[in-house]
Amino acid sequence: MLRRLNLNQLLFVTHMLLVLWLVGSFSYTRYASEWSGKIASEVRLANSSMQHVLKDVSFAARGLNYNYVATQHALAGYDETPNLFYFEVIATSKNEESYNVAWAKDVGELWNTEALFEQNDELEISIKGLRERLITASEEDKFKLTYVLDRLLDKQDRLSNHIRLENLFGNIYFEPDFTHSDYVLDLDSCLLYLKLPLLNSEGSYLWAVFDATSLTQFKIDTIFLLAREAFIAILFSIALIVWASRRIIQPIHRLAESMEGDIDSIDVDSIPDQHRSDELGKLAQRYASLIRRIQNQMLGLRRQSLFDVLTGVYSRFAYETQANLTLESSWKNDRWFGLIIIDIDNFKAYNDEFGHATGDEALQAVAKAFRTSINPHSDKVYRFGGEEFVIVCEKSSASGVSSLAELLRTNVWLKKIQHPNNGGLGFVTCSVGVSMSRSSDREVSLKALFKQADLALYQAKDSGRNQVVIAGQRNAIIESDDDLQGNSHKEHRHCQTEQQDKTNENKEPVV
Ligand code: GH3
Ligand code: MG
Ligand code: MG
Repeated sequence: MLRRLNLNQLLFVTHMLLVLWLVGSFSYTRYASEWSGKIASEVRLANSSMQHVLKDVSFAARGLNYNYVATQHALAGYDETPNLFYFEVIATSKNEESYNVAWAKDVGELWNTEALFEQNDELEISIKGLRERLITASEEDKFKLTYVLDRLLDKQDRLSNHIRLENLFGNIYFEPDFTHSDYVLDLDSCLLYLKLPLLNSEGSYLWAVFDATSLTQFKIDTIFLLAREAFIAILFSIALIVWASRRIIQPIHRLAESMEGDIDSIDVDSIPDQHRSDELGKLAQRYASLIRRIQNQMLGLRRQSLFDVLTGVYSRFAYETQANLTLESSWKNDRWFGLIIIDIDNFKAYNDEFGHATGDEALQAVAKAFRTSINPHSDKVYRFGGEEFVIVCEKSSASGVSSLAELLRTNVWLKKIQHPNNGGLGFVTCSVGVSMSRSSDREVSLKALFKQADLALYQAKDSGRNQVVIAGQRNAIIESDDDLQGNSHKEHRHCQTEQQDKTNENKEPVV
């Protein structure tokens, strides 16, 4: 079940279990110790408060003396004993006669608890006998007998009072079982029973009953106090969990969220918690530096794939990703889009003549001629493959595109790179195929434009090389400058129909 919980829930559940266990066991231990301590102190207190009673009772019991423990002074002493409700003495005198008395606070009297009925019966008989003797007694004896009778009647009164008290309190207080301890606590009745052995008398003892209301109150107070403390501890620990969650779990969430999306789109500076000095801070810092490294490497790789290593112009990959955007942008800006494919003429023969290394240099020189011919704001040069280049441009007119194509061809020628095997031209030349599109021709695709320019390039090749052919233009131009070549290529020619006016260049091509 724990496995199904997320980190936050796991932290909360385990922490709460631990806290509840700790608080519970701590509270119980504290309660048990305080409770037993309080009972012990109450017992000690009751014990010491009974010492003067114990002393008097022990003395009286040894001598079988009832009056000594029933004087006004003694009764006042019992009454002043704190919390004392009742006591009973079960003793044997030094003559082995039983001595049992009891005292109750409610009546403030002490009475004999044993053989009350037998004594009463004996008194009844004695009184009856005296009364019978009084009838027949002389005047002189009558006086004595009356005195004795009065004494016996007094005694009978006291005895019947004792019987009444014994009947009353004998049914209220019962001696508990002291087998295991010298005290018994009855929390239901809030009474503390204490057993104290009498002094100098083996087997004789006194058991007393004390008011234990304060103990019950203490118990309630202690439970409330501990419950309050436990509640505060649990509240505090919940606050701790929330704090720990904010400090640990939430940063992990934030970090995980910052990992979403493209690596390119991650803003390294906004990766959270990098300022922290703890483990999570280190994790965030390492993650940020990893992302930074990956982004740099990706930038390097992208650069490598965007540019051609040999010539420094854009690569074919760049063409695939950018050309369509340029086409759309030119449409959007209501400008002409031009696609110019250029292929160096008889370049295999150049390599064969001078070797590949020189061939590479020639390629670099040609690429440089292209780079310097274009407007870098609107035009781009791509090395399409081998000795083929593609120039993509945005111009305000169709003639802007064809002029650029012508300029490119011318500037290669002007490099005057020796090429003896170039069909008699003597220098490195190139053939150019051009296609165009404007915003009104939105149905045309880049692919179609490429096909048209490629076809035009073939036409330029077929027509003798070193010339520009505009796709779809029926009278496409083959440019061959007199000043540049000074041979049979010196006139303007057309791809399909020769001898077309150069002004055709400025005509809008039908794409
Ligand atoms: P054409 O006028 O019909 O285009 O003839 P061409 O010889 O230029 O065409 P072809 O396709 O027969 O040969 C192209 C040559 O371009 C073959 C190859 O040696 C050369 N080439 C392609 N890439 C490179 C390169 O990176 N460096 C060098 N030095 N030569 C290359
Ligand atoms: Mg080629
Ligand atoms: Mg070629």
